[in-house]
Parts: sequence; C-alpha cells; structure tokens
Amino acid sequence: MRVILLGPPGSGKGTQAKLLGQRFAMTHISTGDILRESIRQGTPLGKEAQGYMDSGRLVPDALVNDIIAERFGRPDRPGSFLMDGYPRTLNQAEAFDGVLRRAGLKLDVVLALQAPDWEIIRRISGRRICLKDQTPYHILYNPPKTPDVCDLCGGPLSQRDDDRAETVTSRLKQYHATLGGMLAFYERQHLLREVNGLGTIPEVFAACVEQLEH
Ligand code: AMP
Repeated sequence: MRVILLGPPGSGKGTQAKLLGQRFAMTHISTGDILRESIRQGTPLGKEAQGYMDSGRLVPDALVNDIIAERFGRPDRPGSFLMDGYPRTLNQAEAFDGVLRRAGLKLDVVLALQAPDWEIIRRISGRRICLKDQTPYHILYNPPKTPDVCDLCGGPLSQRDDDRAETVTSRLKQYHATLGGMLAFYERQHLLREVNGLGTIPEVFAACVEQLEH
C-alpha cells in the first residue's frame, strides 16, 4: 500500500506512522528523521537544514524534494511506503507526484489526522524522542517503562529542540499556512481521507486502519 500521512506537528503522526508501517508492511519514510540523522552525522545536508529546523521553519522545498527523489530513484526504492512529514507544501506534493510517476508508482490514500491547536500544544510539551533509534514517547500518554530511557534500545530520551514552546507556535502557523493547497491537491485526486486524531494511540490507530482497509 502507498500512503501519505498528514497531520499537524504533535498530532501523533510519527507514532501512528511507525505502527501503520508495521501493520501493513509499508516502509516508513520520515523526512524529519532523515534530516535529524543528517544533523547528528554533521553532513552538508544536516548543516544546511539545522538552522531552519531549530527555529521551527520548514527546510526549503528543493532540499527535501532532492532527498525524496534520490530515495525513490534508487533501484531498491520501496514499492509499499508510508510518507510521514512529506509532502508538506503544494510544491512538494507536485514534486512527489512527478517522482512517483517516474518510478511507476501510484498513491492509494492520503490520510489526514485532525487535531486542534490547543491539544497539539499540550501534547508537544510532553513529547520525548530516543536519541538513538528515534522512537517517540510522551511523558503522559506513552511513557517509557523507565523514565528517560528508550524501551526498545535503552538509548537516552530527549526533548527535540524544535518542541520548545516558542517554536511550536511558529510550526503550527506554518502547518496551517501550507496545508490548504495540499489538501485541495489531493482532494481533486479523490485520495483524501480524514481521521480524528484526538483519541488514545490505539483509538487513533484503529481509525487509521479502518480507513486503510476500506
Ligand atoms: P517532523 O519530524 O516531521 O516534525 O519535522 C521536523 C522538522 O524538520 C520540521 O519542522 C522542518 O523544519 C523539517 N522538515 C521535515 N520534513 C520537512 C518537509 N517535508 N519540508 C520541509 N521541512 C521539513
């Protein structure tokens, strides 16, 4: 299955993406994870992206479009995938369309998680991420068994720099500013399905599964 998962920052998108990827054997592709890994490794891409990410701004379209074009241009490109955090703008959606066409792949569904801003701000303040394997946690809704330690790999948990309160507001503003054009783009292709992102992790997962199975 070939799916794009849309949703505001902090809507539980990354958590659902990992679960859905496992459930439907889809390769989970997160541009946020790719960029954070590049920053950790100090690559030229990471150096270029860091300033944008730390201040809660989107990395330029050309940079992320290149990452994705490279990933899907390789012979080992995934035939079944779940996109998490890409595309994020109409320009990226159009670029991705071209990438998929060249690769001979067709999208099945664009799932849009819905969550109001007040809930997002509440959730993001408790969010933590494993520094080693990127597993997401939440201190209230999805706590690790041992505080600040990843259940899966034992790595240390940390708050993302861009999850600080002052950057969250600007990320949300950006999300709303770029979402409309993209939603209209996928609505025209009859690919868009909306899911209420307000429940618990299993509730939202069940709602996503239902949309993907029908
Ligand atoms: P995420 O982990 O998806 O919340 O992404 C974290 C940050 O990475 C974003 O706030 C952006 O600065 C950057 N980023 C990730 N994906 C994209 C994208 N598709 N376009 C532009 N910037 C992105």
